[in-house]
Amino acid sequence: MIDAARLDAEDPLGHLRERFLLPEGTIYFDGNSLGALPKDVPARVADAVRRQWGEDLIASWNRHGWIDLPRRVGEAIAPLLGAAPGQVLCCDSISVNLFKLLSAALALRPGRPVLLTAAGDFPTDAYITQGLATLLGEARCRLCTVPAEEIPARLDADVAVLLLTQVNYRSGERHDMQALTRRAQAAGALVIWDLAHSAGVMPIALDDCEVDFAVGCGYKFLNGGPGAPAFVYANRRHHERMQQPLSGWLGHREPFAFDATYTPADGVARFQSGTPPVLSMLALEAALEVFHDVDLEQLRDKSLALADRFYACAEHAGVLGELEWITPRPPARRGSQISLRHPMAWELSQALIASGVIVDFRAPDILRIGFAPLYNGFREVDAAVQRLAEILREGRHHDPSFCVRHTVT
Ligand SMILES: *Cc1c(COP(=O)(O)O)cnc(C)c1O
Repeated sequence: MIDAARLDAEDPLGHLRERFLLPEGTIYFDGNSLGALPKDVPARVADAVRRQWGEDLIASWNRHGWIDLPRRVGEAIAPLLGAAPGQVLCCDSISVNLFKLLSAALALRPGRPVLLTAAGDFPTDAYITQGLATLLGEARCRLCTVPAEEIPARLDADVAVLLLTQVNYRSGERHDMQALTRRAQAAGALVIWDLAHSAGVMPIALDDCEVDFAVGCGYKFLNGGPGAPAFVYANRRHHERMQQPLSGWLGHREPFAFDATYTPADGVARFQSGTPPVLSMLALEAALEVFHDVDLEQLRDKSLALADRFYACAEHAGVLGELEWITPRPPARRGSQISLRHPMAWELSQALIASGVIVDFRAPDILRIGFAPLYNGFREVDAAVQRLAEILREGRHHDPSFCVRHTVT
């Protein structure tokens, strides 16, 4: 195997690690859950608190452009999604944005009550759909969950929306966005893609795939910090007709006219409901600057190479006999994480964390290892596999201290 130090030295993205603050000696393979802290963020947030809020007070809405943040941050995210300007807005959480988008999409497909989704996708997507179904009644909104491979066959004349997560949070499997979008649209449905595990780690081509709507996460691969706001994409061709039910004042065409009736703002801006979380949005805006000049193809190549390296090392160290590798191997079919199944996956995750390798666990039996190609390197992969092999060899995961479950896994 090629020396990992050489791979790191030759890595065209290697210099980007310098842009992050990471604790010394920690190998952080959980950027798919909470992205690391970009170096510029603390000073930017401190300035926003001390000077903008502390000194300029209410004037900051204009003077420091706070009011424009949802649009501005949306435009900074757009290139990562393959979206031309004017179609992305930063706001709320994925869950809230899904409520808005699902409602909007259903209204665009009258007479079609079914929201089709894949079994095993992130639960919030189904939960929000269930809530909407309760609100609207079965006749207007019904959730239909089927195994992913059955989706094409289930796209009938009742389906209003196909809602899919591009990369599955548990298995790391990636869907073919272009093919499924085409298929759904040919059947008369609209498509909503959840980009939680793909935005910021691979090129995405929302415009080229003619995707209808999308949502994604600010705190995973975009590194916006805990609770960072999410984003919404609405393809320009829907801008005239789309309507969303959380019609709050900041999605109004003229919020400061304080009209008695709601008139939606033009375009994607109507997906804003209320006041943006300014400090969080400023942190995300600063974090996104790391992506300036980053070639997303290069980022994707590195992400795949890190996972391939893990596979090769794991095979070499003989740990694949004990752990089941459940992420598909073909590059087109995976995201930027690997998932390993083991009956003691929780204990293994805890033992790895105790050894300085931060990973996570998804119930009931999956060990997740996420690669963030902006700041992870090949030597880290080698070291992580080595520690995993040691833990398994010594049975360290059987230590009773590792079986205590925390609230957040
Ligand atoms: C992380 C994640 C979410 C998070 O939803 P929030 O409402 O923003 O907390 C949603 N969907 C998927 C697929 C995720 O991985």
